[in-house]
Amino acid sequence: MMMHNFNSGPSILPKEVLQQAADAIHNFNGIGLSILEIGHRTSWFQQVMDEAQSLVKDLMQIGDEYAVLFLHGGATTQFMQVPMNLLPQNKTAAYINNGIWGNKAIKEAKLFGNVAEVSSTKDKNHSYIAKDFTVPPDAVYLHYTTNNTVEGTEWHQLPNAGDVPLIADMSSDIFSKPFPYNKHALIYAGAQKNAGAAGVTLVVVRKDLLGKVQRAIPTILDYRPHIEAGSLLNTPPVFAVYVAMLTMRWIKKEGGLGEMEKRAKERADLFYNALDTLPLFKPLVAKEDRSLMNATFVIEDSAKEQQFLDLCKQNGMVGVKGHRSVGGLRLSMYNAMPLSSVEAIVELMKDFQNKQ
Ligand code: PMP
Repeated sequence: MMMHNFNSGPSILPKEVLQQAADAIHNFNGIGLSILEIGHRTSWFQQVMDEAQSLVKDLMQIGDEYAVLFLHGGATTQFMQVPMNLLPQNKTAAYINNGIWGNKAIKEAKLFGNVAEVSSTKDKNHSYIAKDFTVPPDAVYLHYTTNNTVEGTEWHQLPNAGDVPLIADMSSDIFSKPFPYNKHALIYAGAQKNAGAAGVTLVVVRKDLLGKVQRAIPTILDYRPHIEAGSLLNTPPVFAVYVAMLTMRWIKKEGGLGEMEKRAKERADLFYNALDTLPLFKPLVAKEDRSLMNATFVIEDSAKEQQFLDLCKQNGMVGVKGHRSVGGLRLSMYNAMPLSSVEAIVELMKDFQNKQ
């Protein structure tokens, strides 16, 4: 059966990237060894790391004032590593609370300094993006989540932070569109959606921000030794870095971030148009704040919702169930998703509606 992969992460990857990764497991670049068998300090891997770092800079259009790191620990580690490195104990960082991931970041930041929660959308279950708020001008940074994977909202403009440096968790919309990366002081993302396989976290940091906190930072959690070591401080997740490199190569070859955005809009337009015309299916999110990556919706009758999920399963459509914290339904439509998968589920939704 043809599978349609709506998983939220780890999630769909380009078929050719999977083929290249599989080939490299058997024989990396024709050297007669697997990518899983080579040392991270070999010139073979150094070339992978160099290309991966330069692809990030190329896609993001950023210069040498930024360092590109491939770290362990997932985006969740960044929830604490960011404030540990950037937030002095007696200072304040501003945070936007737009969803469960931002909320987790806030909890960790409080371990290191003061947190000003400048905006929260808890009042309406994070079903919208609040754009009006004031950031204290002396805040060390403003942290926000560009795309709320669970709730299905996305920032379609930059938050207004004045001169306060911006820090973004871009785990679920990185490399999905042209984006003012260079207006950010730090960007991080778990790779397992648009940037590759699970096991590596991309961190892009403007170097002049570092070295301003007094606390002792364990070496492995300090960005500076990672930067000095060219992201090879200890053994990196070699295979995951390789898959990220292949994924970024694919994005570039397909036409870059502009092309990714065009495809994302085609998929999202098709899906949201269906959602707005089929009365059985109800959107959860304010129209102007809808995510192009994760669309959330419900069928109010839970027995029917379960029937629809069963039907999805029978038709090879996986990952349609919403996150365990919010329930309902969710379609994740990352870079590698063909329009035909969205067409298939839209047809299923129409059929299901017609049979009511
Ligand atoms: N932030 C966002 C926006 C996410 O979607 C996720 C995971 N889906 C995380 C953080 C946590 O990432 P990880 O599991 O890599 O720690």
